[in-house]
Amino acid sequence: MALTVGQQREAIRRVAAWRAEPLKPVPCPACKAPGLDVIDRSARPHAEWYALTCPACGLSETLHIPLGASVPMAD
Ligand SMILES: [Zn+2]
Repeated sequence: MALTVGQQREAIRRVAAWRAEPLKPVPCPACKAPGLDVIDRSARPHAEWYALTCPACGLSETLHIPLGASVPMAD
């Protein structure tokens, strides 16, 4: 199961929010259920990698955020 471009953008926003507040439940970018599992696998300073897993819909994605990319924060 792959994320669409829009869902990927959504996932990047969710990860940014998760980094700001790691204790808050993260909604899944695909099914919107809270409880997305985010694991930071970043290889800084080159890039940021996050493993995303959703127990609700079975999403299993690795999200790559190139460093220096601007993350749109508006909803
Ligand atoms: Zn899901």
